[in-house]
Amino acid sequence: MSSEKGKNEKASPYPLAARGAKEDTKVAARGAVFGAERLAIIAGPCAVETEEQVLTVAGRVQAAGATALRGGAYKPRSSPYSFQGLEEKGLEILARVREKTGLPIVTEIMDARAIPHFLKHDIDVLQVGARNMQNFTLLKELGALRKPVLLKRGMGSSVTELLQAAEYVLHGGNEDVILCERGISTFEKSTRATLDISAIPVLKKETHLPIIVDPSHAAGRPDIIPALARAAVAAGADGLIVEVHHDPSHALCDGAQALLPDAFAAMMDDVRRVAAAVGREA
Ligand code: PEP
Ligand code: MN
Repeated sequence: MSSEKGKNEKASPYPLAARGAKEDTKVAARGAVFGAERLAIIAGPCAVETEEQVLTVAGRVQAAGATALRGGAYKPRSSPYSFQGLEEKGLEILARVREKTGLPIVTEIMDARAIPHFLKHDIDVLQVGARNMQNFTLLKELGALRKPVLLKRGMGSSVTELLQAAEYVLHGGNEDVILCERGISTFEKSTRATLDISAIPVLKKETHLPIIVDPSHAAGRPDIIPALARAAVAAGADGLIVEVHHDPSHALCDGAQALLPDAFAAMMDDVRRVAAAVGREA
C-alpha cells in the first residue's frame, strides 16, 4: 500500500528541506541558536563603517537582548557610486568586536572568491542577500562549507524558489541553513517591500529549517519596524534581524530605516511579551 502511495505522490522539489525529511533543524552559531525556544535576535548596522561605530551599536543591542551582531562588509548597492563596504577590513572589525563582546557575527557574502576571508576571520553566519538568493554557483560553494548560512528570500522569489535555493546548500552537505523573509516587491509604495507574513506559517509547514524575519528591509522606515517585528514573532518566526545605528543621519547605508538603540530596546521589551504569549522567549 505504501509503495502504491509513494508512486502516486509527486516528488518534492526540495526533498532535503521538506518538513518530513528530518526533525526541526536547530542551527547553532557560537552562543546563538536558531530554531530553539529562545528567539535568535540579530541586530546591528547595515554596514560596517568604523570599529567605534560597530562597537557602540554592538554594546547597545547586546544590552537590549540581541544574541548576534550584524554588519555588512560587502554591500550589494544599486549604484556603483554608493559605498560598497570595507570588504576584508570590515570582516577584521567584526572579528575584533566579537572578541570584545562575545556576540557571534552575521555578515553578507556576495562572491565565492571571498570565502577564504570569511574562513580566515571565522565568520559565524554567512548571509546570502536577497539579490543573490538564486546565485547557484555561490550556493553550491556554501554547500561545501560547514558554516551556517542565512539565506534571504529574493524580493521577486516565491517560497518554493526560496526552499529550492536552500536545497542547493543542503545538497552540498551543509545542513545549517536559516531562512529569512525580508519583504517582497509589490505595487505598494508606503513601504520599501511588503512583508509576507504568510510566508512564516507556510514555511513552518513546508520545512524543518528555522525561519527569521527582517522587518528593516521590509519596512524601509523605522517607525513601523516594531509592529512588523511583533507580528513576525506572533506568526511563529524563530528570530529577527534588525538594523540599528546610533547616528542614522550619518550612516553610510540604509540610515533611513535604522532604529536608534533606544527604539530597539523598547521594541525588544514588546517582542519579549509577544514571545511569551506564543510559548517562546527573547
Ligand atoms: C542587508 O541585510 O543589509 C541586505 C542588503 O538585505 P537584503 O539582501 O534583504 O536586501
Ligand atoms: Mn541594509
